[in-house]
Amino acid sequence: MEQTDILSFSKDELSAAIAEMGEKSFRAKQIYEWLHIKKVTDFSQMSNISAQFREELSRKFCVKSLKIKKRLVSGIDNTVKYLYELPDGQAVESVLMEYKHGNSLCISSQVGCKMGCRFCASTIAGWVRNLEPSEMLLQIYETERDSGRHVDSIVMMGIGEPLDNFDNVVKFLEILNSGGEGMSLRHLSLSTCGVVDKIYRLAELKLGVTLSISLHAATDEKRSAIMPINNRFGLQELMKACDDYFKSTGRRISFEYSLIEGVNDTDDSADELIKLIGRRNCHINLIPINEIKERDFKKSRFVERFQKRLTDAGLNATVRRTLGADINAACGQLRRDSAAEDKPAY
Ligand code: SAH
Repeated sequence: MEQTDILSFSKDELSAAIAEMGEKSFRAKQIYEWLHIKKVTDFSQMSNISAQFREELSRKFCVKSLKIKKRLVSGIDNTVKYLYELPDGQAVESVLMEYKHGNSLCISSQVGCKMGCRFCASTIAGWVRNLEPSEMLLQIYETERDSGRHVDSIVMMGIGEPLDNFDNVVKFLEILNSGGEGMSLRHLSLSTCGVVDKIYRLAELKLGVTLSISLHAATDEKRSAIMPINNRFGLQELMKACDDYFKSTGRRISFEYSLIEGVNDTDDSADELIKLIGRRNCHINLIPINEIKERDFKKSRFVERFQKRLTDAGLNATVRRTLGADINAACGQLRRDSAAEDKPAY
């Protein structure tokens, strides 16, 4: 019999499973604490649970773990990039970054991605599978264990489209919120390329998550040329969903805009963005594009000029600081390179 992944259980699911085994409810609370506060990796470490019940638990359930396949440490700014091997041999990336306000961890939500954004390395080889809630939590737990640093905030900006793995992501958020991280979901940013129907569903849940929208172009024509999702949900629909999210959660939206030479970095593009944003209370994050070898998109030379045009028009726009420049690998690039290395060399 295959054992069930106990780390992916919400508090309520765990209570129900333990009750079904004929144990009192305080046992479920103890087990939840071992898993998500003390973060043990095996039932044998749960010292206040009887040996007999631990034995029963390990027959029914397993505690998943991740292996560090690669660890790149920046010599400049304490950024650490991890390539984690999942229990089935697949791999995903997480990046630990140090800011003035604390440590931030960028995590992955899927193995590969279906979204097809033209400039993104994560999507080139397509989508393999969704991550389980446990596999998202473990990126945090393992990074804290390995680095000895506490993760203060999380960005879901690694490999994958979080809203394309909606149910598992929501369960992950709920466990994070009720677990030991002591983390308000205000300190979590979920980044999406714009899966509009799921933005409405996320708003309804009122989890307080900060929403980041990968915008990258401000007209349907330009956006559809680099982001296929725009053919499904156009800009007008997307902006409406953002307004709804802001209205129902009170959380200000952050728009990501990666500047690509000759594609979206001209004065005209800036003016289109100014027009699209209008008087919305939001933040615009400008990112010099990370060049990837599979595509010929180039970094823009006009980042400051673009920013100035936006701020002169009264928009709140900042340029994202580059961290870990010496271990720089665009989103999904480490996994791609590693997959290539794993192939037999003949
Ligand atoms: N699927 C989600 C989250 C993962 S990508 C999303 O689309 O938001 C995280 C961010 O990195 C997104 O804003 C994405 O558009 C951006 N990105 C992907 N490849 C990039 C590259 N080569 N250079 C700069 N930003 C990139």
